[in-house]
Amino acid sequence: MIRIMLDPGHAGEFYNASPVVEGYFESRAMWSLAQKLKSALERRGFQAGMTRTTVEDDPPLETRGRMGAGYDLFLSLHSNAAASPLPDAPWIITLSPDAKTDLDEKSLAVGKALGGVISGIMGISDPFYYTKSVDFDRDGNGFIDDEYYGVLFGAKSAGVPGVILEHGFHTNERCAQWLSSEDNLTLLAEAEADALVKFYNMEDSVNEEISKQLEALEKAVEALKARLDRYDRMKVYDNAAVRWAYLDGNLPDWAYSTVAKLVRLGYLRGNGENSLELSELMMRLLVILDRAGAWD
Ligand SMILES: [Zn+2]
Repeated sequence: MIRIMLDPGHAGEFYNASPVVEGYFESRAMWSLAQKLKSALERRGFQAGMTRTTVEDDPPLETRGRMGAGYDLFLSLHSNAAASPLPDAPWIITLSPDAKTDLDEKSLAVGKALGGVISGIMGISDPFYYTKSVDFDRDGNGFIDDEYYGVLFGAKSAGVPGVILEHGFHTNERCAQWLSSEDNLTLLAEAEADALVKFYNMEDSVNEEISKQLEALEKAVEALKARLDRYDRMKVYDNAAVRWAYLDGNLPDWAYSTVAKLVRLGYLRGNGENSLELSELMMRLLVILDRAGAWD
């Protein structure tokens, strides 16, 4: 099972307001996106974790990244800001090149699987892929190979490929407008989850699950058909049976006294056209009830 740790960027409801669209806050939108993405992933068979359990929760950046330990991927969700209102492209920030590990290659590959999807669904410019490292030994391991961004530094330290997804710019009016819609955030979450299914080659297992469910359905339909067949046969049996119309010597001996009793009591009145319309099945039931004392 593929495990993905989601990090809704920032904290609280009202952090990083859009200067161009009233009511948009990066922290609130990304919290919502993370919940939707978690559910979309779980519905597709992923296991999804969260670095924050409440909207006010605000663990330090490096700690968030380290929470990815044991996961296959760490994703930090954001919308970007710039001094100019023009930029709108998604910025996909991946782990810096590092020949000692393949975490950076994995991080870039996932980033590329998601970048185009974000551009496409939001209808904005092509993604911009980016890395940033520091020029000092941040973790003291003897190498100048450390990440600038706290969450990515934490994720890499925990041995998990990390990616920061900047979902366009909330300083861009069209972007901020688009991200203000809960329905759009749902579309975005579903599209990202689909892209991750593709990336992890989970289509086969999703298809397998669908085939299993179809097979079970087919079996249930067969069982239902068998029951209907039995019911039909009973109906045919009852329909085909002779109908006794009158209280006379043509009635079977075993039924006569019961039928006579029910006619006398006024319970059996026929079909209004002078016929009792009694099938054998019906008379057998009446006789059983009579023996049980139903009309005594
Ligand atoms: Zn942010």
